[in-house]
Amino acid sequence: MDILVIGGGASGLAAAICASSAARVTVLEKEERPGKKILATGNGRCNLMNDGEPRYFHGEKFARSVLGPDGPRRLRAFFDDIGLNVMSRAEEDGRVYPATHQAASVLDALRATCARRGVRILASSPADMIETRGGAFRVRAGGQWHSADRVIVSCGSPAGTGERKGSYGLVTGLGHAMVPLLPALCPLECDMRSLGALKGLRIPAVATLKADGAPVAQAGGEVLFGDRGVSGIAVMQLSADAAARAGSHVTLSLDLSPLLDIAPRDHFRFAYGRDAFRAPGDARALLLSRLKRLPREDLFTGLLPRVLAGVIDRGRPGAEELAGRLTDFTLTVTGVRADAAQVMRGGIDTALFDPRTMESRLVPGLYCTGEMLDVDGDCGGFNLMFAFLSGIAAGSSCVS
Ligand SMILES: Cc1cc2nc3c(=O)[nH]c(=O)nc-3n(C[C@H](O)[C@H](O)[C@H](O)COP(=O)(O)OP(=O)(O)OC[C@H]3O[C@@H](n4cnc5c(N)ncnc54)[C@H](O)[C@@H]3O)c2cc1C
Repeated sequence: MDILVIGGGASGLAAAICASSAARVTVLEKEERPGKKILATGNGRCNLMNDGEPRYFHGEKFARSVLGPDGPRRLRAFFDDIGLNVMSRAEEDGRVYPATHQAASVLDALRATCARRGVRILASSPADMIETRGGAFRVRAGGQWHSADRVIVSCGSPAGTGERKGSYGLVTGLGHAMVPLLPALCPLECDMRSLGALKGLRIPAVATLKADGAPVAQAGGEVLFGDRGVSGIAVMQLSADAAARAGSHVTLSLDLSPLLDIAPRDHFRFAYGRDAFRAPGDARALLLSRLKRLPREDLFTGLLPRVLAGVIDRGRPGAEELAGRLTDFTLTVTGVRADAAQVMRGGIDTALFDPRTMESRLVPGLYCTGEMLDVDGDCGGFNLMFAFLSGIAAGSSCVS
């Protein structure tokens, strides 16, 4: 049996390795080398999976079915099989990295396994058409036609590539629907006039995204101030929701209660457990009690980073106003940094794919894996975990 895998990224290489046990496998890769994006992941450390509860935004049900009850265990078995030494104990928040903490080790292990198992990798071969005839396939790449019994399409998304379009046409051309793309997991551009002093500040917060004053999404975690806007996990999680509301007046309200070690006032979909805090939040009570004990000029000394105190305490307002600023520190969002998106929300509609096999219900013998599908996960290894496990499912099932 001949299998063609289009795209030599995380999911395509995993699929190729799994299919190679029972078929001749060729990977068509458009770049001069496969797996370029893997090298950029996790700041060069490659956060390749997560041992915790699955966290997906679009396509959550589909992603959970692909992961199954034991996704992390099966993925660890795959890494063990290809000789990649992975951290046995997860870091904070369930994140798992290769034991070397080097993304290059992941790509090296994938490529070496492909070579050992006879997988042919054709680099600089951009596929631009798939034809089906009598249950078999022909794929055109770089002007050459390649024949196959099954085709696995694993072209990823344009996030982080400098491209805009992606290779979705290969699959939509065969009748599959496409959910429009939005940049996700990227920084937000904000009006930073008068906030320049905060550049470089990193604080924990609950961030609520609002469109025309109404809350639309919320996330908790680190917020990092830059000169053009804000980033950090809490912000990145909200970026696709911000991109979706491009025509509205979008604001980001930061509740700084986690920085004060008190529980955030109200949250509707949120990552911090209430138990993480000393007491239910009341910023005003905290400020009033400090005012009784400390001179006014030391109200924030030892409580807030100095640069932040300078911004919050502008005009020296009273406790009521200050409590409002601490729990609703509002930034005006002017755009999303699409060029820095780690993933795209949207992609090939999962409705016509079987999550156990990744095979199309519309075109038998056609498989689609990884980020090309309308699945986007949270920071923390969830996107690579879905890419690898969907690739493993496609590669194993297409030869069984
Ligand atoms: C900067 C950055 C950091 C990230 N960090 C993390 C992280 O730490 N943890 C995490 O879980 N996720 C991370 N991600 C997301 C993660 O990299 C992707 O979700 C994952 O790589 C998707 O795997 P994939 O196989 O679907 O696609 P890709 O890995 O993108 O692979 C697709 C491959 O297909 C090739 N291709 C595309 N079109 C064609 C065509 N027409 N013909 C032939 N070949 C084609 C591409 O060149 C590419 O090699 C990060 C992303 C970025 C941009």
